[in-house]
Amino acid sequence: MEKLLVTDKIQETFKRHFDDLVKLDHPLNGYCTFGTGGKARVFAEVGSARQIADLVKVAGETGVNVFMLGGGSNLLISDQGYDGLIIRNTIKGLEIQGEGILSGAGEDLQSMVDFAAESGLSGLEFATGIYGTVGGAIFGNAGAYGSETGGLLEWAELVDRQGSIRIEKSRLLRVLLPVVKIKDHGRIHYESQICTKNGQKRSDSHQDA
Ligand SMILES: Cc1cc2nc3c(=O)[nH]c(=O)nc-3n(C[C@H](O)[C@H](O)[C@H](O)COP(=O)(O)OP(=O)(O)OC[C@H]3O[C@@H](n4cnc5c(N)ncnc54)[C@H](O)[C@@H]3O)c2cc1C
Repeated sequence: MEKLLVTDKIQETFKRHFDDLVKLDHPLNGYCTFGTGGKARVFAEVGSARQIADLVKVAGETGVNVFMLGGGSNLLISDQGYDGLIIRNTIKGLEIQGEGILSGAGEDLQSMVDFAAESGLSGLEFATGIYGTVGGAIFGNAGAYGSETGGLLEWAELVDRQGSIRIEKSRLLRVLLPVVKIKDHGRIHYESQICTKNGQKRSDSHQDA
């Protein structure tokens, strides 16, 4: 049998630090649209930036690989499982802030599209019907009909491998995105809240006589 990178001792370290937040040898097939996936040596479902930062910090200290999971709609998880830490981002929340929408990265993309429409904000129509979370759409720069998520993104909160939380403006994210995607997946995780610029607020053309 191949030697595990996440040893029993490392699993115990995660349990000691995070107690019920982490699950050990947790089956992943329920988190992937295709229903594939073995077990994660360490798994955590998180609802805050702080939790992600703390988990990533311990992963860094113990040399454990980290994978951020959104809605699992664009993944085939290996039936051999994941010898590392899987963080499932379930950070929710949608609110109007300034001229944009502030969204949790674990929010359903479609919920954000619906929220924008209900709030009279345009610009996100292209994303109707795209599965997954807001964080997943940013990671993949999901797009359709000539528009893309990155084009609307104002800023995102990120967690680095040292467990520091920081905000990056979209200009820098456009540079980081290909780097993260192609070269160094796992080093930077989108986290928590993103802000989309609002489109034109729809003017109400119907007027009472
Ligand atoms: C019309 C249409 C157009 C699409 N265009 C694109 C496209 O241009 N590019 C593309 O990649 N997909 C595209 N997709 C697929 C769709 O965008 C993805 O399936 C979806 O965005 C993935 O979201 P998810 O939450 O399910 O991510 P998952 O399937 O869980 O993860 C997918 C990837 O995103 C990463 N990820 C997820 N959440 C986070 C997070 N919070 N922080 C950091 N990384 C995270 C994961 O690590 C993984 O690498 C398109 C789909 C449709 C229907």
